Amino acid sequence: AFDQIEAVEKDINSYVTVYKKEEVLEKAEHIQKLIDEGQLTGPLAGVPVAIKDNMCTRDKLTTCSSKILGNFYPTYSAEAVINLEKAGAVIIGKTNMDEFAMGSTTETSFYGPTKNPWNKEHVPGGSSGGSCAAVAAEECSYALGSDTGGSIRQPSSFCGVTGIKPTYGTVSRYGLIAYGSSLDQIGPVAKDVTDCATILETIASYDSKDSTSVKRDDYNFTEALVEDVKGLKIGIPKDYFGEGLEPEVKEAILKAVDVLKDKGAIVEEFDLSLVEYAIPAYYVIASAEASSNLSRFDGVKYGYRTEEYNGLHNMYKKTRSEGFGEEVKRRIMLGSFVLSSGYYDAYYLKALRTKALIKKAFDEAFAKYDVIIGPAAPTTAPKLGDSLSDPIKMYLGDIYTISVNLAGLPGISVPCGQDSNGLPIGMQIIGDCFKEKNIIRAAYTFE
Ligand code: GLN
Repeated sequence: AFDQIEAVEKDINSYVTVYKKEEVLEKAEHIQKLIDEGQLTGPLAGVPVAIKDNMCTRDKLTTCSSKILGNFYPTYSAEAVINLEKAGAVIIGKTNMDEFAMGSTTETSFYGPTKNPWNKEHVPGGSSGGSCAAVAAEECSYALGSDTGGSIRQPSSFCGVTGIKPTYGTVSRYGLIAYGSSLDQIGPVAKDVTDCATILETIASYDSKDSTSVKRDDYNFTEALVEDVKGLKIGIPKDYFGEGLEPEVKEAILKAVDVLKDKGAIVEEFDLSLVEYAIPAYYVIASAEASSNLSRFDGVKYGYRTEEYNGLHNMYKKTRSEGFGEEVKRRIMLGSFVLSSGYYDAYYLKALRTKALIKKAFDEAFAKYDVIIGPAAPTTAPKLGDSLSDPIKMYLGDIYTISVNLAGLPGISVPCGQDSNGLPIGMQIIGDCFKEKNIIRAAYTFE
């Protein structure tokens, strides 16, 4: 991993922080000793991992790719990180991301954009673009990402790697710096489904420190790594294959669906017509929660503080003006607006009702199907710079991923081909709540 970082990192910029090589190797040697003594036996022991920079790592810089956290060294680690460390994982660094996970390209990072390892003129997707690029460029064996509206699945698709967004409540959010708390989930990014299932099994746990954590009876996700889709009922939402979807992406996904059909899966088209309301509902809810969550960054307790100021309010104002980037400010303003009196009912409450309807539509679909299959994104990775000038266009690119977060469902993105420019195409497989095994089973066909 370090050889690869040395060779490509200056061109790709997957990491905000790479840990010191000697320090990491020392840790690895210690773990090797524990393995030799039989004290550590799991599959992740000694394997190098990179962590998205919105997860706290004790005494290690954790920036959320923002200037405002440019000097933040947490005193504790996120629960998912602790679970990995207990399994003997060796953390080698913190990966780049869109600032506070707001974005779809990893271009809103204060520390510069990450480039797509398949073609450096293109973005890796976002917001977990650093994690996905690091895995694709073999700068680590696997990585953790977070997904609020597609941030694991979309960059996985753009970088030709596999990523899982688990059912809401499966992986503890303790120590994950909050963006949209009712939507955020941590998940694995890796080379294949087997690795993803193995990592998910390790990081998923009930945690009383996260009030939305769910005690599940079954964490054995690797049991679903079987080559058998006979009788698996697959729903294809017609609305996911209409206008706006690049023909090459459509073709690759339908070809992959045919493979599943040949192996005995039962495939049927159906209407999931509420999809068009998912984007407005998501951007209202996510921004509302973000505006509240980000109020803690005020220059008082930790993080960046402006150098010169005139009284407390001026200090807040200057700190936040200088510390946050454009996209984050846009979300804070949008979120404050939809939560303000007079607009709360018209926007925020209406968005919550839409969220409930979307969940209902998925419930009806999962009464008939085991999994739903569609694209992860309407296009392959856009060119660097193409998305930043038009935020609405960028938001529209989230069409296939965000309803999954609104409904709390699990989703996986698996590679299923390349476009004529050689850029990877990803297919999204969505399952019902707590049915990760169904999506892992379907995805395993392409291993
Ligand atoms: N692109 C979406 C946003 O900007 C999703 C990001 C995410 O999942 N963190 O909000």
